[in-house]
Amino acid sequence: MAAGFDISKLNAAQREAVEALDGPVLILAGAGTGKTRTVTCRMANLLQKGISPEKILAVTFTNKAAREMQERVAGMVDKKAANKLTVCTFHSLCVRLLRNGIERLGYKKNFSICTPGDQTALIKQFIVKRGGIREKIKPGDVLAAISRAKNSDKGLASIEDDLYRTIAEDYTRELQMRNAVDFDDLLLLGEKLLREHSEERAYWQERFRYITVDEFQDTNSLQMSLLKQMVGTPYNVCVVGDDDQSIYGWRGAEVANILQFERFFPDPHVIRLEENYRSTEAVLRVANKLIKGNLGRREKELRPTIPGGALVRLLSFTGDEAEAEWIADEIKAIRREGKRKKTEAKPDAAVMRLIGGGGGAAEEAALADANLRAWEDFAILFRTNTLIRKMEQVFREKDIPYRLVGAQSFYDRREVRDALAYLQVIADPNSDVALLRILNTPPRGIGEVASLALTDWSREHEETVWESLNSESFRAEVSKKAATAIAGFCDEIQNVHDQLIGGHDARDLLEGFLETSGYVEWLMKNQKSDTERDQRRQGLADVYESLERTLGKGKSVQTYLEESLLDPQKDDELEKKQGVTLITLHAAKGLEFPVVFLTGLEEGILPHKRSIEEGTKDEERRLLYVGITRAQERLMLTYCGKRVKWGEEVRSEPSCFIGELDFDWIEEIDYEAMMQEEANDDDLEDFFGGMREMLG
Ligand code: ATP
Ligand code: MG
Repeated sequence: MAAGFDISKLNAAQREAVEALDGPVLILAGAGTGKTRTVTCRMANLLQKGISPEKILAVTFTNKAAREMQERVAGMVDKKAANKLTVCTFHSLCVRLLRNGIERLGYKKNFSICTPGDQTALIKQFIVKRGGIREKIKPGDVLAAISRAKNSDKGLASIEDDLYRTIAEDYTRELQMRNAVDFDDLLLLGEKLLREHSEERAYWQERFRYITVDEFQDTNSLQMSLLKQMVGTPYNVCVVGDDDQSIYGWRGAEVANILQFERFFPDPHVIRLEENYRSTEAVLRVANKLIKGNLGRREKELRPTIPGGALVRLLSFTGDEAEAEWIADEIKAIRREGKRKKTEAKPDAAVMRLIGGGGGAAEEAALADANLRAWEDFAILFRTNTLIRKMEQVFREKDIPYRLVGAQSFYDRREVRDALAYLQVIADPNSDVALLRILNTPPRGIGEVASLALTDWSREHEETVWESLNSESFRAEVSKKAATAIAGFCDEIQNVHDQLIGGHDARDLLEGFLETSGYVEWLMKNQKSDTERDQRRQGLADVYESLERTLGKGKSVQTYLEESLLDPQKDDELEKKQGVTLITLHAAKGLEFPVVFLTGLEEGILPHKRSIEEGTKDEERRLLYVGITRAQERLMLTYCGKRVKWGEEVRSEPSCFIGELDFDWIEEIDYEAMMQEEANDDDLEDFFGGMREMLG
């Protein structure tokens, strides 16, 4: 095995956790105390102690976190061994469980996974069918009701509205018929599989002997139950979390899980980490004082290891335009101050001129030399996605590179979803949901009437859509034109499918099929501008590239499809992208950035309007706490007097949380007043200048 990791870089409590390998372990600690780093080292230690990597499972909250953890372990021990670890989210874990045993639950082995987009399309169909159009029922509302009901004890029966319930039942039946599951089903079925089938349980308990869960405070009761089924005696399970960072209550997360860990896994080794290594004292003081406002929390020590630091700045602006402009300019200014601990190093004059000139590869090259801060050192945190837009616009105007995290995801892009559906059909023509999606995309003469006839037919005859399409008796039911179109399309699919089975390169097949089927031509024709056409083309290119990369790692097309569906940040695509990070508070969990701007500290935004109505203000306070504790060196909190919402200017009040901050560590700046003062100075300067000129 390779060099191993350096345990001397850990503090005593962290070391204790890294060395406590057997039995239940609970690491309960505040933000930035090295929880994630500790469990990562712990996994490396397991490997070093000779535990086979196949026996080790770690569950993280996002796919990005999973990738990072795996990479970090790989950096510490044998890379090959690290690659054999299973590090994934609860959802992808469930896909594994279900691929192995879903037949026990009455599904066929090659089930497909419905994306939110597919779900909406299905729901719309049933809203129409059940006359919900007249009642102006929104698909999103029905889906939310379905999700809530599915995750409740009473299931769909708990939906009170009759029409909603009927649509929900239609939807559920349809999914089952189509051998498809949605994201909620993944967890529900995964848990059910283990709970109801002891052979499955035994298999997985034997398969994974060491289980770790990061961000445990955000697991819900279903995930907790799943974990209970997964962990065999002697309960080699290690969970890490911080009850102060529980921010998914709205999705049913139970802080109780962490507070009552011992109920499920008796006599855990409890470890507390108290030193914060991430943030300066100033940042921590502000965070600590704020979170004390929550009642019923476990009081925790959180000691800074970096004394002092720049005061946290609290800035008020008249409007969101000014806020965004200031942030952009401030980023440029801080960037010029230079890298951490290298602030003394000043770029030479030539470089400064280049920077002043701005733009282009020359500037980038100069900056790399000049010891300037990287754009990646900066993050801007938002309560909601809609607030991000203004910032994006200003960044584009000011030529600041940025990357959006957790906003529009890879597979939300229409061409990406289409391409994935095509690929799914090539791999398995019996994938109903995907086949229905591409059936008339591009339009090929199989219109809505034929399409409805098709789904009805396949339902009645208990066939897959593919089987119905191929049946002569079905083709006799539709118009001659449709029948001809269907026959042609079926031949094409069969042909490409056969080639794939025959070992042809999947990427080539997909690219070729999207061309010959007329999809690419149709897609291009439907774009308004060259920019849009370029974006679509890029989307497809990204699919080809990531498919090729995944297959290159020896994975199957099916695995590629699963990863793409479950990993909205797919793939390295985003990670490759450089720039300032624009991210929501929820998505920022677990991450850290040297310089953080936290925006929109206003009533109705943070705390969010809904939380005031629903009485979940404590969760909003935790969300702000999560945001503050992302900052390593510098933290700027901002709020505005008005914002443009849906094209209208709306007045904003400062957030009630502002009054709870520790003003000993805060510098308050009224931006407008400051500008006014500067302007006055300039006026004075002008005045005297004018006088001098006159006298001179
Ligand atoms: P969060 O609650 O936000 O998830 P965390 O507790 O998981 O935070 P980490 O992200 O693991 O904390 O660590 C925070 C930072 O502190 C990282 O940059 C990490 O490398 C650093 N760190 C952790 N432990 C030590 C240590 N013993 N010495 C120096 N730096 C450390
Ligand atoms: Mg962490």
